[in-house]
Amino acid sequence: MDERRDPPPESVTRTAAIPPGARLSPLQQAYSRYVTHTTGCDHCRDIDRGWCEKSERLHREWKRQETAAVRGLAGT
Ligand SMILES: [Zn+2]
Repeated sequence: MDERRDPPPESVTRTAAIPPGARLSPLQQAYSRYVTHTTGCDHCRDIDRGWCEKSERLHREWKRQETAAVRGLAGT
């Protein structure tokens, strides 16, 4: 009963990483760092290797920036 199944093909299309030098908000920068890492990291791209600590950290930072941005919008 330990049948190994291949992961389903990834159908998610991600926004392309933004070129360096472009003027971005902190939220966009955090997102760009996260996407740039996950699309270029062997660890993140290999589902069998488990969770990538750096990816987790970048994801948390992105979400933190998102929360801050939403708070900023709500405050106006
Ligand atoms: Zn990674």
